[in-house]
Amino acid sequence: MPVDLVHWKGQAVALEHFTEIPERAMVVCAHPDDAEIGAGGTTAHWSRNGCEISYVVCTTGSSGSNDESMTSDRIVDIRRKEQEDAAAVIGVSNLVMLPYPDGMLEANREFLGDIVKAIRTHQPDVIFTHDPFRFDGFNHRDHRNTGITVQDAVYPYARDHLHFPEQLINGLEPYIVGDVFFWHADEPNVVVDITDTIDIRIDALSKHSSQVPGLSRQSGSDRGIRDRSRSVAEGFPFEYGEAFRRISARPRRR
Ligand SMILES: [Zn+2]
Repeated sequence: MPVDLVHWKGQAVALEHFTEIPERAMVVCAHPDDAEIGAGGTTAHWSRNGCEISYVVCTTGSSGSNDESMTSDRIVDIRRKEQEDAAAVIGVSNLVMLPYPDGMLEANREFLGDIVKAIRTHQPDVIFTHDPFRFDGFNHRDHRNTGITVQDAVYPYARDHLHFPEQLINGLEPYIVGDVFFWHADEPNVVVDITDTIDIRIDALSKHSSQVPGLSRQSGSDRGIRDRSRSVAEGFPFEYGEAFRRISARPRRR
């Protein structure tokens, strides 16, 4: 697979052009809209090429409003519907929405058990999530706690039968994930060509109208998203990309 040196935040780094399409992938994100922001182009591309996509959205998004007349109950209902609509645009097969309140997600055993169970149930080859180890700028507490819990869930908790053994009933088995792809990483090492699905990513993101009011391809308000995706692909023979820090948890099948 070609590896090119490209410039990332002023530094020359090696990004591998990742072209495989796994059979199953999962996105685990803190809030409604994070999945489309972090990996919407890649998941839309993979779903259109036969990959089964599962989403686990960990909080209800209950704090996501600047409107002082908005209540938590109302914004939760609005954001659930927005997430369902966005997932349909991406081509998501399984949408799991956990009930944790926005801003109160802790990297504790209960949450770890939820993610382990989702992994053992949907058996993804690849999981996308927040990079918990970013140093460049602020990282939302829910994002950090999601990323670290996903990494822990992949290894060793979902893999080993003596962790959460109470889950191993009704056919549920320990499961070995292939790779974790962290979005918004300080030092990404893979890039996916999303040229054929950048429009779908923007359409999906625009479904979160309580968070990105007015976003649409027609209005030109998608320019910032396009510019960032274009700069990720700089040096590669395609126009738009999404970059991730990939870590592998098992030897890849070739
Ligand atoms: Zn978020």
